[in-house]
Amino acid sequence: MPLPCHLVRSKRKSLAVHVRHDRIEVRAPLRIARREILQFLSRHQAWVCRKHQEKVKRASEHLALSDGSPILYKAQNLTVRLRTAPRSEVIVSATELTISGPDLAPEKVAAVFKGWLQQQAKAWLPGRTRALAEHLGVGTKLTDVVFRKTKSKWGHCTAQGRIQYNWLIMLAPDGVIDYMICHEVCHLLHMNHSPAYWQAVARVCPDYKRYVGWLKQHEHRLWF
Ligand SMILES: [Zn+2]
Repeated sequence: MPLPCHLVRSKRKSLAVHVRHDRIEVRAPLRIARREILQFLSRHQAWVCRKHQEKVKRASEHLALSDGSPILYKAQNLTVRLRTAPRSEVIVSATELTISGPDLAPEKVAAVFKGWLQQQAKAWLPGRTRALAEHLGVGTKLTDVVFRKTKSKWGHCTAQGRIQYNWLIMLAPDGVIDYMICHEVCHLLHMNHSPAYWQAVARVCPDYKRYVGWLKQHEHRLWF
């Protein structure tokens, strides 16, 4: 199937191509000739194809909450099981993650799973966030810890000292979760990603590069 290609012209100075699983987007300066754009694309054809295959594979690996689907939970490959039961709950065994409830309609299953992750997020993240902020001497800067499932972010720290977490992070291994806490709390020291900021991260979490790498490689599997 040919891949739809969108051309977006703007005041930018150079050509760029963004590859997604379902389309590619070419960003071009206002006055560049069509011929030049086509030449640019054919020059980068191999890269675009490779990138596209990678994106298709990643999109197919997004978390699906259906019976028999694979799920990456705390870095373990488990199988999702759906079971009809009077009580709604999630149970993790060595090989399966079972979501049960009286109604197994997809939105009900998603709600049970979401409630389970949110409960873990609330029990784990605020306390550790506050403790680390106090340890780093920025306890008074931390105003609030909130939860939201955003489209592409695991965490966020505002200039007002409000730290926001995506509760889907509870699917990640504990080391990755602690790195996320460290990442956001260190923004109370430095509101940027400067070398000084990363030095502060490394003091708290010397292995942080491993966790950044783990997220890069696996995070698409935690989204649903
Ligand atoms: Zn950051």
